[in-house]
Amino acid sequence: MPLTKTNGTITPSPHLPFGDQQTAPWYGKDILSVSQFSRSDLTYIFEVAHEMREMVARIGAFDLLKGKILANLFYEPSTRTSSSFTAAMERLGGSVIPINEVRYSSVSKGESLPDTVRTLECYADVIVLRHPEVGASALAAKYARKPIINAGDGIGEHPTQALLDLFTIFEELGTVDGLTVTMLGDLKYGRTVHSLARLLSLYDVKINYVAPPIVAMPREIIAEIDRKGIPQAEFTTLDRPLPETDVLYVTRIQKERFSDPDEYESVKGSYVITPATLQAAKQDMIVMHPLPRVGEISMDVDDDPRAAYFRQMEYGLFVRMALLAMVLGKA
Ligand code: ASP
Repeated sequence: MPLTKTNGTITPSPHLPFGDQQTAPWYGKDILSVSQFSRSDLTYIFEVAHEMREMVARIGAFDLLKGKILANLFYEPSTRTSSSFTAAMERLGGSVIPINEVRYSSVSKGESLPDTVRTLECYADVIVLRHPEVGASALAAKYARKPIINAGDGIGEHPTQALLDLFTIFEELGTVDGLTVTMLGDLKYGRTVHSLARLLSLYDVKINYVAPPIVAMPREIIAEIDRKGIPQAEFTTLDRPLPETDVLYVTRIQKERFSDPDEYESVKGSYVITPATLQAAKQDMIVMHPLPRVGEISMDVDDDPRAAYFRQMEYGLFVRMALLAMVLGKA
Protein backbone atom coordinates (compact mmCIF):
# COMPACT_ATOMS: atom_id res chain seq x y z
CA MET A 1 0.00 0.00 0.00
CA PRO A 2 1.85 3.15 -1.12
CA LEU A 3 -0.04 5.72 0.92
CA THR A 4 -1.69 6.02 4.33
CA LYS A 5 -3.77 8.94 5.49
CA THR A 6 -4.21 9.35 9.22
CA ASN A 7 -6.30 12.17 10.68
CA GLY A 8 -5.68 14.30 7.64
CA THR A 9 -1.89 13.79 7.62
CA ILE A 10 -0.19 11.70 4.99
CA THR A 11 2.36 9.08 5.88
CA PRO A 12 4.00 7.85 2.70
CA SER A 13 5.16 4.25 2.84
CA PRO A 14 8.93 3.78 2.88
CA HIS A 15 8.59 1.50 -0.17
CA LEU A 16 7.39 4.00 -2.73
CA PRO A 17 7.87 3.06 -6.36
CA PHE A 18 9.07 6.57 -7.30
CA GLY A 19 11.70 8.60 -5.50
CA ASP A 20 10.02 11.94 -6.14
CA GLN A 21 6.69 11.15 -4.48
CA GLN A 22 7.62 11.72 -0.85
CA THR A 23 8.73 15.28 -1.42
CA ALA A 24 5.95 16.29 -3.85
CA PRO A 25 3.96 18.89 -1.84
CA TRP A 26 0.51 17.74 -2.96
CA TYR A 27 1.18 14.03 -2.84
CA GLY A 28 -1.75 12.17 -1.29
CA LYS A 29 -3.72 15.32 -0.47
CA ASP A 30 -7.48 15.69 -0.85
CA ILE A 31 -8.86 18.59 -2.87
CA LEU A 32 -12.06 19.52 -1.08
CA SER A 33 -12.38 23.29 -1.00
CA VAL A 34 -10.75 26.34 -2.52
CA SER A 35 -9.94 27.53 0.99
CA GLN A 36 -7.03 25.07 0.91
CA PHE A 37 -5.14 27.19 -1.62
CA SER A 38 -2.82 30.11 -1.15
CA ARG A 39 -1.78 32.43 -3.96
CA SER A 40 1.54 30.65 -4.30
CA ASP A 41 -0.27 27.28 -4.55
CA LEU A 42 -2.32 28.70 -7.41
CA THR A 43 0.77 29.98 -9.19
CA TYR A 44 2.25 26.49 -8.91
CA ILE A 45 -0.93 24.73 -10.14
CA PHE A 46 -1.20 27.08 -13.11
CA GLU A 47 2.46 26.55 -14.02
CA VAL A 48 1.88 22.80 -14.08
CA ALA A 49 -1.41 23.26 -16.00
CA HIS A 50 0.35 25.48 -18.53
CA GLU A 51 2.99 22.80 -18.99
CA MET A 52 0.23 20.22 -19.49
CA ARG A 53 -1.31 22.47 -22.13
CA GLU A 54 1.99 22.61 -24.02
CA MET A 55 2.59 18.87 -23.70
CA VAL A 56 -0.91 18.09 -25.02
CA ALA A 57 -0.35 20.46 -27.95
CA ARG A 58 3.02 18.86 -28.68
CA ILE A 59 2.45 15.16 -28.10
CA GLY A 60 -1.18 14.65 -27.11
CA ALA A 61 -0.62 12.04 -24.41
CA PHE A 62 2.26 10.81 -22.27
CA ASP A 63 2.92 8.22 -19.59
CA LEU A 64 3.30 10.31 -16.42
CA LEU A 65 0.56 8.35 -14.60
CA LYS A 66 0.99 5.01 -16.33
CA GLY A 67 -0.43 2.25 -14.16
CA LYS A 68 -2.46 4.65 -11.99
CA ILE A 69 -6.24 4.31 -11.74
CA LEU A 70 -8.86 6.98 -11.13
CA ALA A 71 -12.37 6.17 -9.87
CA ASN A 72 -14.89 8.70 -11.18
CA LEU A 73 -17.82 8.48 -8.74
CA PHE A 74 -20.75 10.67 -9.78
CA TYR A 75 -24.03 10.79 -7.85
CA GLU A 76 -25.22 13.79 -9.92
CA PRO A 77 -25.24 14.35 -13.68
CA SER A 78 -22.10 15.63 -15.35
CA THR A 79 -20.73 16.00 -18.85
CA ARG A 80 -17.64 18.20 -18.63
CA THR A 81 -16.28 17.37 -15.18
CA SER A 82 -16.51 13.61 -15.53
CA SER A 83 -15.30 13.45 -19.13
CA SER A 84 -12.47 15.92 -18.58
CA PHE A 85 -11.19 13.94 -15.59
CA THR A 86 -11.36 10.81 -17.75
CA ALA A 87 -9.54 12.52 -20.60
CA ALA A 88 -6.99 13.98 -18.17
CA MET A 89 -6.21 10.57 -16.68
CA GLU A 90 -6.01 8.89 -20.07
CA ARG A 91 -3.80 11.60 -21.57
CA LEU A 92 -1.43 10.99 -18.68
CA GLY A 93 -1.35 7.26 -19.44
CA GLY A 94 -3.59 6.17 -16.55
CA SER A 95 -6.99 4.52 -16.60
CA VAL A 96 -10.45 5.14 -15.18
CA ILE A 97 -13.20 3.24 -13.36
CA PRO A 98 -16.31 5.20 -14.41
CA ILE A 99 -19.28 5.15 -12.03
CA ASN A 100 -21.33 7.82 -13.67
CA GLU A 101 -24.66 6.29 -12.88
CA VAL A 102 -24.75 5.22 -9.25
CA ARG A 103 -28.19 3.70 -9.86
CA TYR A 104 -26.41 0.72 -11.38
CA SER A 105 -23.92 0.37 -8.52
CA SER A 106 -24.37 -0.93 -4.97
CA VAL A 107 -25.46 2.59 -3.95
CA SER A 108 -28.91 1.53 -5.16
CA LYS A 109 -28.77 -1.34 -2.63
CA GLY A 110 -28.33 1.21 0.15
CA GLU A 111 -24.54 1.26 0.44
CA SER A 112 -23.25 4.27 2.39
CA LEU A 113 -20.85 6.80 0.92
CA PRO A 114 -18.04 5.81 3.33
CA ASP A 115 -18.38 2.15 2.30
CA THR A 116 -18.52 3.01 -1.40
CA VAL A 117 -15.31 5.05 -1.24
CA ARG A 118 -13.60 2.41 0.89
CA THR A 119 -14.52 -0.08 -1.81
CA LEU A 120 -13.28 2.02 -4.72
CA GLU A 121 -9.98 2.81 -3.10
CA CYS A 122 -9.20 -0.89 -3.05
CA TYR A 123 -9.00 -0.62 -6.83
CA ALA A 124 -8.10 2.99 -7.56
CA ASP A 125 -5.36 5.46 -6.55
CA VAL A 126 -7.56 8.56 -6.49
CA ILE A 127 -11.34 9.16 -6.31
CA VAL A 128 -13.18 12.04 -7.98
CA LEU A 129 -16.55 12.51 -6.25
CA ARG A 130 -19.66 14.48 -7.17
CA HIS A 131 -22.51 14.29 -4.68
CA PRO A 132 -25.74 16.25 -4.04
CA GLU A 133 -24.96 16.94 -0.37
CA VAL A 134 -22.80 19.78 0.91
CA GLY A 135 -19.81 18.30 2.76
CA ALA A 136 -20.04 14.86 1.10
CA SER A 137 -16.46 15.04 -0.16
CA ALA A 138 -15.16 15.97 3.29
CA LEU A 139 -17.05 12.99 4.72
CA ALA A 140 -15.63 10.68 2.04
CA ALA A 141 -12.13 12.04 2.70
CA LYS A 142 -12.48 11.23 6.39
CA TYR A 143 -12.91 7.57 5.56
CA ALA A 144 -10.65 7.25 2.53
CA ARG A 145 -6.92 6.55 2.62
CA LYS A 146 -6.52 7.68 -0.98
CA PRO A 147 -7.00 11.27 -2.19
CA ILE A 148 -10.54 12.50 -2.75
CA ILE A 149 -11.16 15.28 -5.27
CA ASN A 150 -14.41 17.20 -4.80
CA ALA A 151 -16.14 17.49 -8.20
CA GLY A 152 -19.11 19.39 -6.75
CA ASP A 153 -20.94 18.86 -3.45
CA GLY A 154 -24.51 20.05 -3.90
CA ILE A 155 -24.74 23.82 -3.58
CA GLY A 156 -21.45 23.84 -1.65
CA GLU A 157 -18.27 24.06 -3.69
CA HIS A 158 -16.75 23.05 -7.00
CA PRO A 159 -13.06 23.67 -6.40
CA THR A 160 -11.67 22.18 -9.62
CA GLN A 161 -14.08 24.33 -11.65
CA ALA A 162 -12.92 27.45 -9.81
CA LEU A 163 -9.30 26.53 -10.48
CA LEU A 164 -10.00 26.11 -14.17
CA ASP A 165 -11.98 29.36 -14.19
CA LEU A 166 -9.06 31.25 -12.71
CA PHE A 167 -6.63 29.53 -15.07
CA THR A 168 -8.86 30.62 -17.96
CA ILE A 169 -8.66 34.24 -16.78
CA PHE A 170 -4.86 34.04 -16.51
CA GLU A 171 -4.42 32.42 -19.91
CA GLU A 172 -6.88 34.76 -21.64
CA LEU A 173 -6.15 38.09 -19.93
CA GLY A 174 -2.64 37.52 -18.56
CA THR A 175 -3.49 38.61 -15.01
CA VAL A 176 -6.16 38.58 -12.31
CA ASP A 177 -4.98 41.56 -10.26
CA GLY A 178 -6.75 44.76 -11.19
CA LEU A 179 -9.73 43.07 -12.87
CA THR A 180 -13.45 43.57 -12.32
CA VAL A 181 -15.35 40.28 -12.36
CA THR A 182 -19.13 40.34 -12.71
CA MET A 183 -21.04 37.18 -11.77
CA LEU A 184 -24.54 36.89 -13.16
CA GLY A 185 -27.46 34.50 -12.70
CA ASP A 186 -28.13 32.01 -9.91
CA LEU A 187 -25.59 33.01 -7.29
CA LYS A 188 -27.44 31.28 -4.45
CA TYR A 189 -27.41 27.70 -5.71
CA GLY A 190 -24.50 27.99 -8.16
CA ARG A 191 -21.59 26.25 -6.46
CA THR A 192 -19.10 27.41 -9.09
CA VAL A 193 -19.54 31.07 -8.14
CA HIS A 194 -19.19 30.24 -4.45
CA SER A 195 -15.80 28.69 -5.09
CA LEU A 196 -14.71 31.28 -7.66
CA ALA A 197 -15.56 34.29 -5.47
CA ARG A 198 -13.48 32.78 -2.65
CA LEU A 199 -10.49 32.13 -4.93
CA LEU A 200 -10.69 35.60 -6.47
CA SER A 201 -10.49 37.11 -2.99
CA LEU A 202 -6.81 36.11 -2.93
CA TYR A 203 -6.22 38.74 -5.64
CA ASP A 204 -6.69 42.46 -6.01
CA VAL A 205 -10.10 42.34 -7.73
CA LYS A 206 -13.50 43.94 -7.64
CA ILE A 207 -16.50 41.58 -7.71
CA ASN A 208 -20.00 42.54 -8.91
CA TYR A 209 -22.98 40.26 -8.36
CA VAL A 210 -26.02 40.50 -10.64
CA ALA A 211 -28.94 38.28 -9.58
CA PRO A 212 -32.65 38.33 -8.81
CA PRO A 213 -32.95 38.87 -5.02
CA ILE A 214 -34.24 35.33 -4.33
CA VAL A 215 -31.05 33.82 -5.79
CA ALA A 216 -28.57 36.46 -4.57
CA MET A 217 -25.06 35.52 -3.41
CA PRO A 218 -25.32 34.03 0.11
CA ARG A 219 -24.67 36.62 2.84
CA GLU A 220 -22.03 34.48 4.54
CA ILE A 221 -19.93 34.34 1.36
CA ILE A 222 -20.20 38.12 0.87
CA ALA A 223 -19.16 38.61 4.52
CA GLU A 224 -16.23 36.20 4.13
CA ILE A 225 -14.98 38.09 1.07
CA ASP A 226 -15.56 41.43 2.71
CA ARG A 227 -13.23 40.39 5.53
CA LYS A 228 -10.48 40.06 2.92
CA GLY A 229 -11.02 43.71 1.95
CA ILE A 230 -12.36 42.96 -1.53
CA PRO A 231 -14.78 45.57 -2.95
CA GLN A 232 -18.12 43.98 -3.85
CA ALA A 233 -21.36 45.40 -5.23
CA GLU A 234 -24.80 43.88 -5.86
CA PHE A 235 -27.19 44.63 -8.72
CA THR A 236 -30.35 43.15 -10.17
CA THR A 237 -29.59 44.22 -13.76
CA LEU A 238 -26.39 44.14 -15.78
CA ASP A 239 -26.46 47.61 -17.39
CA ARG A 240 -24.55 49.46 -14.66
CA PRO A 241 -21.69 47.02 -13.98
CA LEU A 242 -21.22 45.82 -17.59
CA PRO A 243 -19.09 48.69 -18.97
CA GLU A 244 -16.41 48.24 -16.25
CA THR A 245 -16.45 44.43 -16.45
CA ASP A 246 -13.33 42.49 -17.54
CA VAL A 247 -14.82 39.03 -16.89
CA LEU A 248 -18.54 38.40 -17.21
CA TYR A 249 -19.22 35.05 -15.51
CA VAL A 250 -22.70 33.87 -16.50
CA THR A 251 -24.47 31.00 -14.72
CA ARG A 252 -27.62 29.00 -15.29
CA ILE A 253 -30.58 29.17 -12.90
CA GLN A 254 -30.21 25.82 -11.09
CA LYS A 255 -33.71 24.44 -11.61
CA GLU A 256 -33.00 21.18 -9.77
CA ARG A 257 -32.14 23.01 -6.52
CA PHE A 258 -35.49 24.82 -6.11
CA SER A 259 -37.96 23.22 -3.69
CA ASP A 260 -40.76 25.50 -4.98
CA PRO A 261 -41.28 25.25 -8.77
CA ASP A 262 -43.09 28.62 -8.78
CA GLU A 263 -39.95 30.28 -7.44
CA TYR A 264 -37.96 28.80 -10.30
CA GLU A 265 -40.57 30.00 -12.82
CA SER A 266 -40.35 33.50 -11.34
CA VAL A 267 -36.62 33.81 -12.06
CA LYS A 268 -36.01 31.57 -15.07
CA GLY A 269 -34.97 33.52 -18.13
CA SER A 270 -34.09 36.58 -16.00
CA TYR A 271 -31.01 37.34 -18.10
CA VAL A 272 -30.07 36.58 -21.68
CA ILE A 273 -26.73 37.76 -23.07
CA THR A 274 -27.01 38.62 -26.76
CA PRO A 275 -24.72 40.40 -29.24
CA ALA A 276 -26.68 43.58 -28.42
CA THR A 277 -25.81 43.19 -24.70
CA LEU A 278 -22.12 42.96 -25.52
CA GLN A 279 -22.15 46.24 -27.45
CA ALA A 280 -21.89 48.00 -24.09
CA ALA A 281 -18.98 45.80 -22.95
CA LYS A 282 -15.22 46.37 -23.28
CA GLN A 283 -13.52 45.03 -26.40
CA ASP A 284 -10.92 43.10 -24.39
CA MET A 285 -13.24 41.53 -21.82
CA ILE A 286 -14.24 37.84 -21.77
CA VAL A 287 -17.55 36.03 -21.25
CA MET A 288 -17.31 32.81 -19.25
CA HIS A 289 -19.88 30.17 -18.25
CA PRO A 290 -19.30 26.88 -16.37
CA LEU A 291 -21.90 25.30 -18.70
CA PRO A 292 -24.37 23.81 -19.40
CA ARG A 293 -26.17 26.90 -20.64
CA VAL A 294 -29.93 26.79 -20.92
CA GLY A 295 -30.61 30.05 -22.70
CA GLU A 296 -28.62 32.61 -20.64
CA ILE A 297 -26.21 33.21 -23.52
CA SER A 298 -27.69 33.31 -26.97
CA MET A 299 -25.90 31.17 -29.56
CA ASP A 300 -25.25 34.30 -31.67
CA VAL A 301 -22.66 35.30 -29.08
CA ASP A 302 -20.55 32.17 -29.72
CA ASP A 303 -18.60 33.67 -32.63
CA ASP A 304 -17.68 36.82 -30.71
CA PRO A 305 -13.95 36.51 -29.81
CA ARG A 306 -14.88 37.56 -26.28
CA ALA A 307 -16.93 34.36 -25.82
CA ALA A 308 -14.44 32.27 -23.84
CA TYR A 309 -16.75 29.51 -22.58
CA PHE A 310 -15.72 26.84 -25.06
CA ARG A 311 -12.02 27.60 -24.53
CA GLN A 312 -12.73 27.50 -20.77
CA MET A 313 -13.75 23.82 -21.08
CA GLU A 314 -10.46 23.02 -22.75
CA TYR A 315 -8.47 24.79 -20.01
CA GLY A 316 -10.29 22.46 -17.60
CA LEU A 317 -8.53 19.47 -19.11
CA PHE A 318 -5.09 20.95 -18.39
CA VAL A 319 -5.97 21.95 -14.83
CA ARG A 320 -7.35 18.49 -14.07
CA MET A 321 -4.23 16.86 -15.57
CA ALA A 322 -2.15 19.07 -13.26
CA LEU A 323 -4.23 18.17 -10.19
CA LEU A 324 -4.07 14.43 -10.86
CA ALA A 325 -0.31 14.58 -11.39
CA MET A 326 0.05 16.56 -8.16
CA VAL A 327 -2.01 14.36 -5.85
CA LEU A 328 -0.40 11.25 -7.29
CA GLY A 329 3.05 12.64 -6.51
CA LYS A 330 4.21 13.30 -10.04
CA ALA A 331 4.31 17.09 -10.06
N1 ASP B 1 -21.52 22.34 -14.41
C1 ASP B 1 -21.57 23.25 -13.29
C2 ASP B 1 -21.77 22.50 -11.98
O1 ASP B 1 -21.70 21.29 -11.97
C3 ASP B 1 -22.56 24.34 -13.48
C4 ASP B 1 -24.00 23.96 -13.61
O2 ASP B 1 -24.37 22.80 -13.49
O3 ASP B 1 -24.78 24.89 -13.85
O4 ASP B 1 -21.95 23.12 -10.96
